[in-house]
Amino acid sequence: MHPHPRIASRIQCRACAPLLVAAAVCILPLPGQRIVAGAEPAAAPLSQAAADGDVALGFSGERAMAHLEQIANLGPRPSGSDAMRRQREILVAHFRAAGGTVTGQTFQIRDRQTGKAVAMENLVVEWHPQRTERVLLGAHYDTRPFPDRDPVDPRGTFVGANDGASGVAVLMELAAAVAGIAGPVGVDFVLFDAEEYVFTPRDPYCLGSGFFARQYAAGQKSGALAYRYRSGLVLDMVGDADLQIHQEIHSVTWPDTRPIVEELWGVAARLGVRQFVARPKFEVDDDHVPLRMIGRIPTADIIDFDYPAWHTTRDTATACSGESLEAVGSVVLQWLREQR
Ligand SMILES: [Zn+2]
Repeated sequence: MHPHPRIASRIQCRACAPLLVAAAVCILPLPGQRIVAGAEPAAAPLSQAAADGDVALGFSGERAMAHLEQIANLGPRPSGSDAMRRQREILVAHFRAAGGTVTGQTFQIRDRQTGKAVAMENLVVEWHPQRTERVLLGAHYDTRPFPDRDPVDPRGTFVGANDGASGVAVLMELAAAVAGIAGPVGVDFVLFDAEEYVFTPRDPYCLGSGFFARQYAAGQKSGALAYRYRSGLVLDMVGDADLQIHQEIHSVTWPDTRPIVEELWGVAARLGVRQFVARPKFEVDDDHVPLRMIGRIPTADIIDFDYPAWHTTRDTATACSGESLEAVGSVVLQWLREQR
């Protein structure tokens, strides 16, 4: 156990929407592709089992761990870096090969130190795009620029195996199974850029999810979108080898997200997944806050915030495990299968 100063620094953001909008970072939309609902489903090179729709593919922790290692091996992946671009290429190819429809959502921010524009890109992976009632599964895929909580080397190398790659790895492994879910609800994976493009304590978090949420809210308001998200989950720091997923306090308190938390922890209890602990513990301002406060998407955060390697050089693959990824992936997959 260790104290979590991030709680103190990020807890202030209770009314996150106005704070994010007022952030001193200039967010400029680029003429990137719009997300269009109702598009033709991509030709889906699924496995026969997934294509049949009624064969329940499982979630392999071993494969998920291989994905985590592949992503972490790219090294630090802060927003705008070459490694982030390489990661994006890997993910686009991976999700397309599994039958997903991948769209980039580009925007720019103005770096607060240098004043230079930095190109950002969220990735949206649509499954069953013809389904108008949808669930969002999100994870940030950028890594913090520096391990600033490292007691020895706070300007050292930050790989972000848990804080960055773990959520991405769960989505990569979920791809094969999600494609085959036969229920009425469609699924979108959203990989958020710039969750923590943070160099100083004053820098804002959650830029990618904030941009995504504003675009979605505007589309809902204008009637341009042919779909709606009924709910969302954010997966962050889910790979800790010593995993305990407590209920995040915003998620279990907001009246529209509390039922999601109860469903998830109910699924975990039925499956005997002991890593889900049915008690609240930390309040975290993660990507679920702008999704709910700006986008009005009821979104719960799945996070194990008790991670001694958090924001240190020790956040590497050796601190993570496939068993932990499998615990989270199995619960999320079963929850998706039970959506009616
Ligand atoms: Zn972080």
